[in-house]
Amino acid sequence: MRLHWNDLGTPRAERANGRTVELSGFPLTVLPIGGAAHFLMMAEPGCCQGCVPANRLAVVEVFADHPLKLGNGPLRLIGTWQVSFDPDGWRYQLCGAEVKPGVTRRALMAASPLFCLPVPAMAQAADGTAIDIHSHAGNLIPMSFGRGQFAAVAEPMRQGGVSTICLAVVADSPIIKLADGRLRPSREPRSGELYEFSRRAFEKLHALAREQGLPIIRTSAELRAARANRPSLIVSSEGADFLEGKIERLDEAYQRWALRHLQLTHYRPNELGDIQTEPSVHGGLTPFGAEVIRRCNQMGIVVDVAHGTYDLVKQAAAVTTKPLVLSHTSLTDRPAAWTRRILPDHARAIAATGGVIGIWPVTGYFPNIVAYAEGFAKMAELVGIDHVGLGTDQLGLVGSSTLPSYADLPQLAAALRAKFTADETAKLLGGNYQRVFQASLG
Ligand SMILES: [Zn+2]
Ligand SMILES: [Zn+2]
Repeated sequence: MRLHWNDLGTPRAERANGRTVELSGFPLTVLPIGGAAHFLMMAEPGCCQGCVPANRLAVVEVFADHPLKLGNGPLRLIGTWQVSFDPDGWRYQLCGAEVKPGVTRRALMAASPLFCLPVPAMAQAADGTAIDIHSHAGNLIPMSFGRGQFAAVAEPMRQGGVSTICLAVVADSPIIKLADGRLRPSREPRSGELYEFSRRAFEKLHALAREQGLPIIRTSAELRAARANRPSLIVSSEGADFLEGKIERLDEAYQRWALRHLQLTHYRPNELGDIQTEPSVHGGLTPFGAEVIRRCNQMGIVVDVAHGTYDLVKQAAAVTTKPLVLSHTSLTDRPAAWTRRILPDHARAIAATGGVIGIWPVTGYFPNIVAYAEGFAKMAELVGIDHVGLGTDQLGLVGSSTLPSYADLPQLAAALRAKFTADETAKLLGGNYQRVFQASLG
């Protein structure tokens, strides 16, 4: 089969593993030499000898049984395609490579390289500072009910260059059920029920952190220092239902569970306010919701208004003295009924607080990584590059995810780098959240 450079980082390149493939590209050697049996190949000529992109997906490592003649022009090679799972190595190798004569430069350029990055353009994943601002990784939701087993978290984070995840317990889990294709409250919780459930869920979260060796971040200095070689987590709750209207429980969660990121509402219109997926009952934010925001601002807890209605968001923006996060959504201008996506004004209200909107990898909205990157671009175009982030909702999605594993993050980084500079990509994949975290915690 013939591979193109824009197949790299896609399932097509993965499926080619072990097959004989043809690939055209430019050889790159550290020294200007006439022939080599082991060299790197890229989509475009390097800007100088030894200029290698940092992106593991933009380069193919070539092994030949005898030295191949290398000129300044392109080569068309045939060999056995190997996908490498070594996190420190190149992703793709062409083994037993032989030259197939006859490629023209024009034909090569028509192959339209997608990924070709200059040296300083480190894909974010490569420097290991990416932050997922909404996650249930490690099988946390079933484990909160005492079902199943923890799944690997730290290793895929290391592989993908993710330094930190905001790992969320789901405070209203016991009473929400899938009905008519969406999650809805099935009954009123009993008094104390969601507090008790959340206490057990926070315990499980801490057990997961211990099992996986993930330090828990409590200060903005710790987040600044976090790197993927020793990944960490921020304790988060999806829904403040465990408060049951009692503000002192926020202090308790801060102290006892190191809660530093709180999403006000989830799938139940709760004591704090209204949600996107049920009819409004409070007209937005309740007085208790406003009190919780003020207390979060004082104590140093990031306020997340995901799932809240536009009215709730506007009212929260008027109350908060710190930037707001809306951790998992995407932009739409034609919202379906009860959608979790947001309209442009909803997004602008978050950005106006200096906050961050996490883009949610729902396959129904973004069927592949390139479309997902486009979702970031659309939001950034509307609200600015400083107000967009990564919100995977890992192991929390009802359907499938475009980014099911942290190990896949380099593919997203590469797709983003086709649209953004290295600095911009770094902001999208963590820098923006880090700024909000710093502003919220001091
Ligand atoms: Zn959610
Ligand atoms: Zn979630």
